Amino acid sequence: MKITKVVCTPVHIPMEAPLRWSMGVENGTTRTIVELHTDEGVVGLGETYGGASTAARFRSAEPFFIGYDPLEVSRIVKNFEVFRTTSEQSALTIELRYVAAAIEMACWDIIGKIQNKRVCDLWGGADSELVPFVAYLFYRYKSRDGKLGGEDGPESICDQYADHVSRFGFTGLKLKTGVLNPVIERATVRRLRETFGDQIQHLRVDPNQVWCTATAINELKKLAEYDLEYCEDPTFNLEGMSRVRATVPVPLATNMAVLNFDQVAPMLRMWALDVILVDPYFWGGITQCKKLAAVAETFGFGLAIHSDRELGIGMTASLHLWATTPSLCHKYDSHYPFQVDDIITQPLRWKDGSVALPKGPGLGVEIDRDKLNKYHQLYLKKGDEIEFFDSQRPGWIPHVPLW
Ligand SMILES: [Mg+2]
Repeated sequence: MKITKVVCTPVHIPMEAPLRWSMGVENGTTRTIVELHTDEGVVGLGETYGGASTAARFRSAEPFFIGYDPLEVSRIVKNFEVFRTTSEQSALTIELRYVAAAIEMACWDIIGKIQNKRVCDLWGGADSELVPFVAYLFYRYKSRDGKLGGEDGPESICDQYADHVSRFGFTGLKLKTGVLNPVIERATVRRLRETFGDQIQHLRVDPNQVWCTATAINELKKLAEYDLEYCEDPTFNLEGMSRVRATVPVPLATNMAVLNFDQVAPMLRMWALDVILVDPYFWGGITQCKKLAAVAETFGFGLAIHSDRELGIGMTASLHLWATTPSLCHKYDSHYPFQVDDIITQPLRWKDGSVALPKGPGLGVEIDRDKLNKYHQLYLKKGDEIEFFDSQRPGWIPHVPLW
């Protein structure tokens, strides 16, 4: 069997209402859907970060995977490992890691389909058929029709959590912070604890690096009494994180300060943090995530999966990853409940806070052609979603630090 061609389709899927984060607003998600064709008619599905620019990179990377047998997935992964380098070509190399992630994902889907095995079974078997999540809460602007969103403080965030608990059965949460004055955000965390008590088994906050070190130290000292599982990226870079970590009794996590293997060693020497949120796209694919999991086991730091508005193909690949990787010891969180739709035939469903692994071979998902076309047309109209802006605050420019 040989890989003959790749078809890439960028899509845009809107949010129910604009999600606010520390550096702007997320109005939707841009993802590229990948179909990897073979000479025997089997097609593998993949998904990756980014739109037309990423899609164009697949063509330049064709010598790395066209003509290979999908069963040679390790050779294909090795070909793409040249892009582990960080250099003056950083924009190029990161996009080629997005390409690598999707091609590897699609190869595993093909292998599963021809072997009639689920991807999790190819990876040694799932520890659990259920992947547990916590709610991911956001301050939001109102939707265009004014019916959804508008959360702007403690009470409305508690309402959002109660809504997600009733619909999805979550028993924990992550709150996107760094958006409002830290005093309001601390009051939000306090209200969540007062209202829901120990029903919240895991409580995370994520200001995405916009607290200066003094704010991070002061806020986390005060937030510690609310029993945080961890704080993601309280402040900028490893140096700042290590200063905060030395001072506060709250574990720290990152999906921003460590994005590559060459950043792991200094992180460990500085003991800058406790948890890495590994991202299958930024890190260059599932194999790289599995390698990081081995490092995490060896050096005793925690591992979680980073989420950034994935759709069902990418989410499902990460479900298989979670279920087969014991060192992924922290629950998953996801924007998915806020996204208005998906491009697969059976969108993900939560029951008692968990999503079940699909039963079908490969990844276990299929593309809904009408939806793929619909949201591709929307992408052609809207272009890439760029979340570093806030059209509702004219003249406002994000900055690090903000608070
Ligand atoms: Mg984060």
